Amino acid sequence: MPLVIPIFIPHEGCPHCCVFCNQQKISGFTVEPVTGEDVTRIVTTWLERSEKEYDRVQVAFYGGSFTGLARARQDELLAAVVPFVAQGRVASIRLSTRPDYIDRDIIEFLQRHHVGTVELGVQSMSDTVLTLSGRGHNVADVVRAMGMLAQSGLETGIQLMLGLPGESRRILRKTVEQVIGLGPDFVRIYPVLVVQNSMLATLYAQGQYQPLSLNKAVLMAAWMKKRFDQAGIPVVRMGLQAGKQLEKSLIAGPWHPAFGELVQSRLMFNQTRRLLGQADSDSGITVSVSARDESVFRGMKSQNIKRLRQLHLVDSFKLVFDPDQPRHTVVQMS
Ligand code: SF4
Repeated sequence: MPLVIPIFIPHEGCPHCCVFCNQQKISGFTVEPVTGEDVTRIVTTWLERSEKEYDRVQVAFYGGSFTGLARARQDELLAAVVPFVAQGRVASIRLSTRPDYIDRDIIEFLQRHHVGTVELGVQSMSDTVLTLSGRGHNVADVVRAMGMLAQSGLETGIQLMLGLPGESRRILRKTVEQVIGLGPDFVRIYPVLVVQNSMLATLYAQGQYQPLSLNKAVLMAAWMKKRFDQAGIPVVRMGLQAGKQLEKSLIAGPWHPAFGELVQSRLMFNQTRRLLGQADSDSGITVSVSARDESVFRGMKSQNIKRLRQLHLVDSFKLVFDPDQPRHTVVQMS
């Protein structure tokens, strides 16, 4: 099991103002910038608190556009992790940045400083959506950055957003297919939320932006997850981390503290429905799920069971729990 030690550098290094962004609110930090000493203290505390043995420990700089920081500032933060790497207590560093803040010189610098993973805030593969979202980069930047990162051998992640201004189902489908073509090692999916003091808050107040409903965001994220699963690309997170600051600043949008579980639950419902639809209706079947998935299978407030009841399917199968079955799978036993 891997351990990721998160260090937030909200909005640092970023001169842009994406319509959805209010980094200080989202990451919950309103304090002074993190120093090298802070990094040493945070990493030491996490390592001392961790009782388990981890396969891989990474220190992660999240929140801003790391490679947009001044070199001296990047050096300060990365150098604070180096002693832990030298001691063998941390394997490597991961960080998030923008596609237009990647070039060969930057990649070499990161590799010299033990960075093993780079996550790109891609958000969409439509230039129209990127422009309407105030991203300040385009699709060509993403393709170029991913090409250089692939050559470098660094592990890559892509962050995508769901429900951006100007996004349609067709654009979302194209985005997912193009991202699959870029071959990232993993993906994160974040539904767009309207938070205070963001440009989106103004557009929302003026009636110029309508966020997705929770139900629609779950359905769309479920479709994305299924496509990435089929392509063998892990989706390591769906939905923002819950936090008091975020909840306080939230104005509208498909927010749920367990968004990822809602998506998994929907996918399990879809699998079950498919299995039951294919089964011989007279004989009745047994369906097995992982013992750890009972609540995911039933859904929030037993929503999946209610849906199956509405479809007159709830009595057509017997449910069993298998402690050895992989999570989030639904298997027909007989
Ligand atoms: S690139 Fe956009 S989302 Fe990222 S920190 Fe800058 S303004 Fe926020």
